[in-house]
Amino acid sequence: MKKNWITALLLLFSLAVSTSNAAEYLNGIKWKSPAIVTPGQTDAMPPSDAVVLFDGSNLKGWKNGENWTVKDGVAYSGRGKITTLESFGDCQLHIEWKAPEPVKGSGQGRGNSCVFLMDRYEIQVLDSYENETYHDGQAGAIYKQTPPAVNAMRPPSQWNSYDIFWTAPRFDDQGKLVSPAYITAIHNGVLILNHFELKGDTPYHRPPAYNAHPPTGPISLQDHGNPVGFRNIWVRPFKSAEGEQVRDPYIKNGDKETPIQP
Ligand code: MG
Repeated sequence: MKKNWITALLLLFSLAVSTSNAAEYLNGIKWKSPAIVTPGQTDAMPPSDAVVLFDGSNLKGWKNGENWTVKDGVAYSGRGKITTLESFGDCQLHIEWKAPEPVKGSGQGRGNSCVFLMDRYEIQVLDSYENETYHDGQAGAIYKQTPPAVNAMRPPSQWNSYDIFWTAPRFDDQGKLVSPAYITAIHNGVLILNHFELKGDTPYHRPPAYNAHPPTGPISLQDHGNPVGFRNIWVRPFKSAEGEQVRDPYIKNGDKETPIQP
């Protein structure tokens, strides 16, 4: 019995010692304090640091915006594509769109538009609700490169949303590709593209290719002859957290610091 007590006490003692001397991993990075961003009233609404591209009032921030129709807070595609005056690189883009009613046409002829990142990388906008077409050309496809993982389309009377997370491609001074573009996209709350690596731009008539371009570019919306409605468009330029490696990573245990060998 006495032996059990001693064992219990010893256990408690060693636990206390190990807790007070707990080893901690420290990465040696001095992080900048992340900026404060006030979220929108809902996750679909622009946060405080967003650039609002269309809030329902006008298309003044877009080249050729005067040739689209804005009615009751909705912008309808028509008479050429529209292109933002501002340029963006890595970003988070929110956009809502609605296929035309009454439903007309089929395949690529039904509710066709698209979002171009950097004016050349296309994520398809199409009425893909009960509408067959080639899969790498349906809504949410990276045109001619990949279909969306699933079809999360709502019927034509309802609004769709895309939340797009874009990593711009990088080129060196000679115009050689250093890293490709990546896209993650959520359609109506459903993940449809997960860090998809683009093979280049997305033309109809030739294979995808990377041609060097500036680190930022405008966002454009296509006019494919169908009056697709758009609303609530905003974008946030994205920059990862910043920090400086001020020393090598180490383990801290009480006063003892042990560098971690790479
Ligand atoms: Mg299109």
